[in-house]
Amino acid sequence: MLFLGIDFGTSGVRALAVDGDGRIRGQGRAALPEAVGEDGWREQDPALWLEALTQALAQLAAQVGAAWRQATALAIDGTSATLVPADARGRPLRPALMYHDQRARAEAQMLAGRFPGNGALAGASASLAKLLWLARHEPAMLAGLRHLHHQADWIAAQLTGCWGRSDPGNALKLGLDAASLRWPGAVTNLLEAAGIDPACLPRIVPSGEVFGALQPAWAEHLDLPAGLPVLGGTTDSLAALIAAGVRTPGQAASSLGSTLVLKLAAARPLDDLAAGIYSHRLGTLWLPGGASNAGGAALLRHFSPAEMEALTLQLRPERPTGRLCYPLPAAGERFPLNDPAFAGTPPPAAGPLTRFQALLEGLSYIEAWGYRRLAVDAPPQAVLTLGGGTRNAAWMQLRANVLGRPVLVPDCPEAALGAAMLAAVPQFGTLAAAQGALAQPCRRFE
Ligand code: ADP
Repeated sequence: MLFLGIDFGTSGVRALAVDGDGRIRGQGRAALPEAVGEDGWREQDPALWLEALTQALAQLAAQVGAAWRQATALAIDGTSATLVPADARGRPLRPALMYHDQRARAEAQMLAGRFPGNGALAGASASLAKLLWLARHEPAMLAGLRHLHHQADWIAAQLTGCWGRSDPGNALKLGLDAASLRWPGAVTNLLEAAGIDPACLPRIVPSGEVFGALQPAWAEHLDLPAGLPVLGGTTDSLAALIAAGVRTPGQAASSLGSTLVLKLAAARPLDDLAAGIYSHRLGTLWLPGGASNAGGAALLRHFSPAEMEALTLQLRPERPTGRLCYPLPAAGERFPLNDPAFAGTPPPAAGPLTRFQALLEGLSYIEAWGYRRLAVDAPPQAVLTLGGGTRNAAWMQLRANVLGRPVLVPDCPEAALGAAMLAAVPQFGTLAAAQGALAQPCRRFE
């Protein structure tokens, strides 16, 4: 058995192959140019994605060798809220509006009024806000519009010829009701009022269920078996959580990147728009989460990555500084504290080592507070951890001390592994079983 996972993330495409015993057989990657534009515009030609995909898979095939042609299945994840309006044959009608495109601010404000409490639709990056922006500013495009795709499902549709399908994770930001997996009347009415045919909304294929089969031309191009099953994918952040091993209620996952993103798996959803909390759904699991502006970007205001690396070796997690601070990169916080004017509090006026440790302690306390807000049923058990901050082992120990639970850092935090686990769902019966079978080791701090 050989499962292929393809991740379209913020920094490029990664492809990974894992066999049925959980052995990683290879990894390929290809860079994508940064999507730039003026005044918050972020666009990219989806044709670039197919080129990068071909490149990453060719690299992977060379590592895998003979087993490549017997691949069992593949699945794809992509950046959330990257929208591709397409015609009846799946051809993009314009460049994709990337996940971080911010031009739909007025539409976001309107949606916040119409869907109070729906955090997935909050902000200018939500795909529904982007779609309404397109309808207003590029109405001529609507005549040819037949399918609304996101990055992952547009690529899956290219490979299989199955247009107009998406998964619940990607469709959430287009207004899908995650509980019923249906398009609410409020969303279809809104589309109709904007001159958009609601039939453009995708049919939902749950993550890990059959999306389609690899078309012969693509099979030849990629040297893969024709008819290879392509399974329903997900977003890049959910794929990373799947890879990290989030699979039962009570498991928590922190992403220590530019910002601090927390999710706590639960049996039911939790939404609080004012606090920036909303819930993703992964099979039967709900993932309430929130994102604090505190995080790595705030650290970079005080230290360069090289300075942080040098100081890391001297940190003393067992001896807290006792100097409280709330590190923010700029004024404004949403979660766990909701105050757009809050400027944070600075680290103590002390030497670099004490300042660095106090900043990390501050971030750890914010994280602990965040989990208290997310814990509807029970506090987290273990805290799986991803992102650039995980290279700081002393911070991981500090967090384990402050959070009072084990901190687990996966050796292979690749979203592409999560996608490969989705590809393995039919073989193992459930996603949780596939995650168990293909799990990679973790470093443990407690
Ligand atoms: P993102 O993908 O959100 O941009 P990454 O997951 O790549 O971020 O993580 C980058 C962050 O890692 C930076 O903001 C930086 O502050 C942080 N970082 C880098 N080195 C260290 C370190 N030694 N200790 C703590 N944080 C670090």
